[in-house]
Amino acid sequence: MKCQRCSKTAVIYQKYSNAHLCKKHFIEDVERKIKRDIRKFKMVERGDRIAVALSGGKDSIALLYVLHKIFRNRPDIELSAITIDEGIHGYREHTLPHAVKLTGELGVPHTIRSFDEMFGTTLDELTRKKEHAACTLCGVLRKNLLNKAARELGATKLATGHNLDDEAQTILMNYLRGDVDRMTRMMGIIPGMVLRIKPLRSIPEKEVALYAFLNNLPVSADECPYAGEALRNEIREMVNNYEVNHPGTKYSLLGGFGAISQALRPPDTQILQCKKCGEPSSEAVCKTCRLLGR
Ligand code: SF4
Ligand SMILES: [Zn+2]
Ligand SMILES: [Zn+2]
Repeated sequence: MKCQRCSKTAVIYQKYSNAHLCKKHFIEDVERKIKRDIRKFKMVERGDRIAVALSGGKDSIALLYVLHKIFRNRPDIELSAITIDEGIHGYREHTLPHAVKLTGELGVPHTIRSFDEMFGTTLDELTRKKEHAACTLCGVLRKNLLNKAARELGATKLATGHNLDDEAQTILMNYLRGDVDRMTRMMGIIPGMVLRIKPLRSIPEKEVALYAFLNNLPVSADECPYAGEALRNEIREMVNNYEVNHPGTKYSLLGGFGAISQALRPPDTQILQCKKCGEPSSEAVCKTCRLLGR
């Protein structure tokens, strides 16, 4: 198949837009969507210091690469990267070197924090106690460390690698659970936390992977051994199956949520300081300290 914008061989068929694209035009298309969203949602503004949450997986690797490409000639925008080592044996030691390699090549300052160093324990050890699901522990503790590190770096925004599939799944999960609080949090404004931005929100997961591959970015196919909450796996399958017969469904979910989110207000929560660790919290003891049994 030929690219519809030139005569070169196509590397992808985008069913949702009925477009065949060659390498050059596919990369342009991905970057155009990212720049459009950054402008539309004012994700990056003059003087911003952007900290990228860099796990070393394909999404965050592609995110750091593309943000560096877009802003490398903007002296008013600073980029840095933060990696959290949760202590997941057989997984993190494979993705961490990719994060180190890319930040080294791009010359982006890189901060690495670990659960072990900050909490005195690893995710593997915490999970063995069987008190909480691995992803619950991981999500709460990682967010806590990312926010702390971003704040210490003086970051004005924290960029995460959530792609279109992640966003569509989360939107549907929140609808099904009737969880308006989480819907509100998806807008990125969480009291007491560094503002979150998601520049890859309009890029389908497969396209993020292809973008990383075509740009020779250091990524591996490793998957976390705890991968995936049961509900998210169900929703992923449901959305993917629906997308096959109704191309563009993931974009519809994102667009529909964008429209209703204007009616959602950021939570009016009073922010306290956790009595145990001093981090911002909506309760006297923060979720991290509660999960750690402090
Ligand atoms: S799959 Fe779960 S445990 Fe693994 S990195 Fe993701 S959130 Fe953490
Ligand atoms: Zn082309
Ligand atoms: Zn605390």
